[in-house]
This record gives sequence, structure tokens and C-alpha cells, in this order.
Amino acid sequence: MKKILIANRGEIALRVMKSAKKMGIKTVAVYSDADRHTPHVLFADEAIAIGPAPSSSSYLVIDKVIEAAKQTGSDGIHPGYGFLSENAAFARAIDKAGLTFIGPNVHAIEVMGSKLAAKEAVKSYDIPMVPGIDEAIEDVDEAKKIAQNIGFPVLIKASAGGGGKGMRIVQNIEELPEQMERAISEAVSAFGDGSVFIEKYITSPRHIEIQVLADKHGNVVHLFERECSIQRRHQKVIEEAPSSVLTPELREAMGEAAVKVAKACNYVGAGTVEFLLDSQKNFYFLEMNTRLQVEHPVTEMISSVDLVEQQIRIARGEKLSFQQSDLHIKGHAMELRVYAEDPLNGFLPSIGNLSVYQRPVGENIRVDDGYEEGMDIPIYYDPMIAKLITYGNSRELAIELMKKAIAQYKIEGIETTLPFGAFVFRHNDFVSGNFDTHFVKNNFSAAYVEQNQAEDRKIAAVFAVKKYLETIKKLAPIKHQSSIWTKSRNQ
Ligand code: ADP
Repeated sequence: MKKILIANRGEIALRVMKSAKKMGIKTVAVYSDADRHTPHVLFADEAIAIGPAPSSSSYLVIDKVIEAAKQTGSDGIHPGYGFLSENAAFARAIDKAGLTFIGPNVHAIEVMGSKLAAKEAVKSYDIPMVPGIDEAIEDVDEAKKIAQNIGFPVLIKASAGGGGKGMRIVQNIEELPEQMERAISEAVSAFGDGSVFIEKYITSPRHIEIQVLADKHGNVVHLFERECSIQRRHQKVIEEAPSSVLTPELREAMGEAAVKVAKACNYVGAGTVEFLLDSQKNFYFLEMNTRLQVEHPVTEMISSVDLVEQQIRIARGEKLSFQQSDLHIKGHAMELRVYAEDPLNGFLPSIGNLSVYQRPVGENIRVDDGYEEGMDIPIYYDPMIAKLITYGNSRELAIELMKKAIAQYKIEGIETTLPFGAFVFRHNDFVSGNFDTHFVKNNFSAAYVEQNQAEDRKIAAVFAVKKYLETIKKLAPIKHQSSIWTKSRNQ
């Protein structure tokens, strides 16, 4: 593989290009009219325009992406996450064009793209599943019987679901008909597929997912867990690795289960097996994501494995160069998703111009982003500006560094979720590790953020003074020169 086209934009396009470049592979960017002057376009060796700003006319058009690959002589295509990354037709079209898809095979994408097909596929592998049914249901009376058997509360879920959409909690039998109707109509409008099923609603779960890597020679390893319980509307906002609640035994058991799930669909590449962990530490298989995850950097930080590099090596047919016993967790990593959203105003999108944009810098601080100062945040795409990642020898140190990095991150012109992050990383329940997926709903309020902002300003001021003192120290040896300058000016 000598040249890779990245069928994506923003931070993930840049992230993929960095690994490719490191490996001596040429990169090709594709861009819509809204992204003409963005960092991912400037960073790539070549760039091809693929249409108007709406993604349905550019980043989601399979033919345009493949045409761009052919035109540039690319031999591989990396889909990033989102857009076409879990689209089986895209993977198939790439195969047909004689190019290499840097991702799993079509079969795995298809099976894991449907929550019901996924349950079916892993059924015989002895993987713990959330109690519930494993086929689509349409009849309300039958749904009532099933829900009673499972025991309320239950969750109605869209088989084609993603991004937390098409999910309805049902507390009692009276609510069921209405919630079922809503789940179906949401599933139809979001995914064009109204199949829903019923699961036990785990009341106090943690979302723990396992990163897996599988090569084309039958080798599958896991790279431990990511804790993704800090969610808003079932969507992750803060992630960490490792989880503070997993014992080595539980980690091993979940890791083994994840490897079995990967084997169940003949998985190839980097994938993520998601589980729920209940308050008694029982774990249940949720789904598998057949792509690189947004939160992959925390795994990279604690395992020292470059996941994009591994994806490329696997796609090239190379064998994994390590075994499970070679992999170890070292230290702790935190990630905050920095969105262009206003946490003081119901997290409404805050679209506009990045009039000031200064990243925090320092050892163990990583910023994955795709913007520069002065750029506009387009309305057409996901509002994530950046991922702020910190690493430390311990969880406490990663949290401390995160608080400092948030205080140092200067973004003006739009509102962001940085103050929300500052709130979470200071919260006693987060710091002590005592939380579940309801943390944000139960604890977050705009008033807390305002209080925290005052504290942030204090931290920023202390930083500024420290920096000033350091600068003064550095300038000290040229003191006499400035006095000459002063003298000459006075003359
Ligand atoms: P999606 O594909 O839309 O992301 P998931 O099945 O991955 O849906 O679930 C997303 C989130 O929804 C989980 O992280 C968890 O917070 C919540 N969730 C899903 N299933 C259950 C369940 N059975 N009980 C409680 N919470 C659940």
C-alpha cells in the first residue's frame, strides 16, 4: 500500500494521515466545498474536491469517493469513523474497484450493523447477553407479554440503531404501546428500518468497551477496556482507560468475551465490542462497532499501540507482531470531547467563527483536532472540534493534568463543552470512580458550571503568573542588553 485515500474530514482524517505519513505512505484527502481550506486538506499530499457541503452530496457519495481514489492512483481507502465507515455497500464497492478497504470484511459489517443479527451471530459463543428477545417484534400484545416476562423497566431498541437513537425506556405496561410506537417511528425516520426489540433495562450500568485487533491469519487480541459511562443522551462525552472498577479477573473475562465476539463474525482489523456492566459487576454484550472509535486515543496512550498503523498493517495482510501476553496496561488516560455546544444552554449547537483558538501544550497532553484559529465551524457536520487527551502514571494524575489542560485551552467566538468537562473532572463521584451512565443527568447543572468557571479563571491566572516568572528567568542573562536599549532610548 503506497497511497491511501481518507474518506473523511476533520480530526479523524488528520489522525489517519499522521500514521500513514509516519509509515511512508502517501495520503489523499477528499473535501467538500465547506472544507476547501481545512487542515486535513492542507496536510495531505494530494486533495480532491468531491462536491457540495452537505455530506449527502459529498462525503457519503460512494461513487465520488471511489472515483477520487482511482483518479489519484490510491490503493487503499481508510473510512475513519461516521460517514461511510460502517457501510457494507461501500466496502463492497471498494473490493469491486480492486482497491483495499482499511476495515473489516463486508460480512462482519453487515452482521454487526444490525443489533439483532449481532445477537444471533454470537449466540453460540457463550457470551453473556442482556436478558431480552433476539428478534424483531411488531405486535403490541406480544410485546406486553415479553416485557412482563423480562420484568420492568424494559428498553425498546431499534435493531439498526446507532448514536443513541431509537431507544425508549418503558417503566410499566401502560406506557408500553405509546413508547413502542415512538421507537418504531424514530427507527424508521433515522435508519429507514423500523425493526425493534425488547431488552431488560439495566438500571445502573456502566458502559465498558473492549478494543480488539484481528489480522487476516486468525490472530485476535484485545487491548483492554475503555470506560465510556459519562454520556449525554446515550452518547459518550468523556472516556478513560482503563476503567477504575475492573478487577484483573473481570478484565480478562471481558477481554476473552470480546475476542470471541470478533471470532464469531470472522472479524479483521480494529473493532470495539461494547458491554454494559451492572452494579453487581455482571457484564452483558451490547454490540460491536466495526471501525475505529472516536475514543481510540485513550487505548493508544495506555497500550503504546498505534491503532491506525495496525489497521493499515492488517489491511496489507501482515500478521500481528504481538500476542496477548505482550500487551500490558501502562498508566491512565482521559479524553474529553470538545464540542461546539453551549453547556449553559441545554448543549445547543454553538456554530460560528473560532476567533481565538489556542491548544494546551505539554508533556502527556494530546489534542486531536481539525481546526485552526479563524476558521468557521460548519453547520453541516458533527460539531466536535477536538478531543483533548491526557495521560498520567495514575488516574489521579491524568485527571489533574486534564483540569490544567482545560484551563489552558483558549477558545473564543463560540461556546464549547470545555466548562462541562471542568465540572466533571472536579466532581467527587467522578474522581472517586463512583458513577454510572446516569452521571450527567443526575449531577450536571448550568449553575455548577458557572461556579467552576470562576475557579478555572483562578487556575488560568496562576498559570499565567508561573509562565511570566519562567519567562523572566529565561530573559535574565540578557539583562544588560535591555539596559543598553533603555539607555539608548533615553538618550
Ligand atoms: P447505540 O448503537 O445507539 O449507541 P447502544 O446499544 O450502543 O446504542 O447503547 C448506547 C447506550 O445506551 C449505552 O451506552 C447505555 O448507556 C444505554 N443502553 C443501551 N442498552 C441498555 C440497557 N439494556 N440498559 C440500560 N442502558 C442501556
